[in-house]
Amino acid sequence: MIKRFFLHINGIVQGVGFRPFVYNLALKYSLSGWVKNTGDGVQIEVQGDNSNLNNFIIELENNPPPLAQIDQISKSEIHLKKENGFEIHFSTDSDKKDTLTAPDMSICPDCLKELFDPNNRRYLYPFINCTHCGPRYTIIHHIPYDRKNTAMNSFPLCDNCLQEYQNPKDRRFHAEAIACPNCGPKVWLEYENKKVENSNMAISETVKRILNSEIVAIKGVGGFHLAVDAMNLEAVHRLRKRKQRLEKPFALMAGDINTIEEFAFISEFEKQQLLSPERPIVLLKKKVNCFKNIAPNLDQLGFMLPYSPLHYILFHELKKLGHRGILVMTSGNLSDEAICIDNEEAMDRLKNIADSFLLNNRDILIPVDDSVVFTINKEVQHIRRSRGFVPKAININIKGPNVLACGGELKNTICLLKNNYALMSQHIGDLASIDTFNYFKQSIKQIQEVYDCQPDLLVHDLHPSYLSTKYALEQKDIKTLAVQHHHAHLSSVMAEHNLNEPVIALILDGTGYGLDHAIWGGECLVGDYRNFIRFAHLENFHLPGSEQSILNIERIAYSLLYLAYGENVPTLKTMEQVNHNLLLQMIQKNINSPLTSSCGRLFDGIAALCGIRSQVNFEAQGAIELTQYYQKDINKFYNYNLQKNNDLYIIKIGGMIQEIVADIRNNVSIHTISTAFHNTLVEMFSDVLLKAVNCCSINKIVLSGGVFQNEHLFKLILEKLKKHSLKLYYPKQVSCNDSGLSLGQAVIGRYSLLG
Ligand code: ZN
Ligand code: ZN
Ligand code: FE
Repeated sequence: MIKRFFLHINGIVQGVGFRPFVYNLALKYSLSGWVKNTGDGVQIEVQGDNSNLNNFIIELENNPPPLAQIDQISKSEIHLKKENGFEIHFSTDSDKKDTLTAPDMSICPDCLKELFDPNNRRYLYPFINCTHCGPRYTIIHHIPYDRKNTAMNSFPLCDNCLQEYQNPKDRRFHAEAIACPNCGPKVWLEYENKKVENSNMAISETVKRILNSEIVAIKGVGGFHLAVDAMNLEAVHRLRKRKQRLEKPFALMAGDINTIEEFAFISEFEKQQLLSPERPIVLLKKKVNCFKNIAPNLDQLGFMLPYSPLHYILFHELKKLGHRGILVMTSGNLSDEAICIDNEEAMDRLKNIADSFLLNNRDILIPVDDSVVFTINKEVQHIRRSRGFVPKAININIKGPNVLACGGELKNTICLLKNNYALMSQHIGDLASIDTFNYFKQSIKQIQEVYDCQPDLLVHDLHPSYLSTKYALEQKDIKTLAVQHHHAHLSSVMAEHNLNEPVIALILDGTGYGLDHAIWGGECLVGDYRNFIRFAHLENFHLPGSEQSILNIERIAYSLLYLAYGENVPTLKTMEQVNHNLLLQMIQKNINSPLTSSCGRLFDGIAALCGIRSQVNFEAQGAIELTQYYQKDINKFYNYNLQKNNDLYIIKIGGMIQEIVADIRNNVSIHTISTAFHNTLVEMFSDVLLKAVNCCSINKIVLSGGVFQNEHLFKLILEKLKKHSLKLYYPKQVSCNDSGLSLGQAVIGRYSLLG
């Protein structure tokens, strides 16, 4: 029997070869009709034999193109039409713009083969791509994703490319970013007012310059990288100096996985992540004591593999010159500033860092940094969710008004809630720099333009002096809502897992503004999107000098001693440089010494007590170094106790500090102290969680906050809690650090509007 169906598909179905896939599938099953992109997905009309139609739909659902993600298919039977064959119709820019765009993906195996095939017309062409690979989000002006709405609009197709683009049998059929050496973008090299125009010569000259200790700024997929030879100590040192980045680790790019394996341990699962089309930077354990100035004092290296054709050509050239092929590839910016995307902007902003510039004329419209992940128990944990992952939407199961969330202050992201999609932005960064703050404001404008969406509510953090808060409060004609930091962390995890009932949350964090104006960060909360109560928290200690103490962590160490001993602070070898009198005055007279229950700061303070370091060069440096001393086989614990004040449990840590001081005096190894400290935290937090479980009769536990980037602590807490019949939820698609806040804020915002 002949039937005709109308199908509407939502999800990531544009710019991923979905129409040609539908076209070829229709031909396979001898169906007539058409397919087209619309503002909210893909529409199909298909007509033919009923069983063929059914097979068509089954295959459509079960075997879509690699980058596609089908969220919903609606199907209805319609009247038969007279027609011949199957056609692809042009897109209509309808008013509804609810479709999704795929992230930028690494070059696919087919394109890679062509890239190095001397007989192919795209041999060594740095912008080769197809429907299954290449740039997407970074080149889009607005949806729907059609060439005319992208940065490729300024490159009219040559006859050969046009033929491929129009041929449904070609693997570049409607590849919107299609290009070749004749019609597409070009690369060139600039240095000292000189210009190497020829693309191949520019790339080989770049490689020579890198091997000659130069710092080269390379325009990539989502922004500029600064590249230097990772084996060249002097060059790396110069990069640190010029970039004003003293000790923060640099990311490395190696030509292949075997090279990485020489320097780092890689599990099968980590290998899969390195090779995935998202191509994130993966944190790996260092094998030998190498690359000392790449990640000073750290036992991990962040490695990634080439992902753009240009990277592959660079490594090909390096190999030709007999070089091992490991480059530092750090984002093209000054420390803490936003990544550069524009040629002129980069030449200006990076002029005191880079010696030469490998440029191209394909515009980057949305800056997207490299993503950073680590793996734990065969799961990916995001530290920075950007290229390859953004703008994949997170499905939210509660419909309501559109909401825009402004995120936090550090590791800022924003999140637009449109229909049932949460669209989280790329990593924006630390808003304290004017430059990043401008980028934040531009991203807010851009996300609304790309998705053609005006929010009904702006959500911001409760902290009155976060720049994101100030921004939100300055906006006229839009409602705003303040959300407590750790409530947002809790809700972010709930939203990702589509939870709708109250949970118990353990949020271990750096800092977040509390309801009582203190700085929270070691919290056990009970709540849902609408409300929460504070069930327990780490005992408060002072931060003498506030922000100052976050850099001078010996101040935190002193404060912990004060907590444990009062004004009779004991003398310790590790604390000899500290101005005891000054800090004592500050704490006792409460001069710029806010109280905090921050778990992150507790780690910093213990690191300083142990003498690991007294000052840090980047956030959590002390904490990370303390963690590295953890040793699985040490079975030591310190004391803690829970004090109940009305309905609130305070986790008292004075006893633990005294024991740590005794250990330091007895020259107990830092390995032992660090391990006992970790073990104790696991005990005390599990204890609190189980109390909450009993008290509230809730068995869903949410874990989040930046401290969960501590792999040992995370693993230990999971192990401990898994022994009880609890349901554990933690971030999987989003990050546990503050870049995950915007999602939680957005969903809390939507609930607040629903009344
Ligand atoms: Zn491809
Ligand atoms: Zn062409
Ligand atoms: Fe936080």
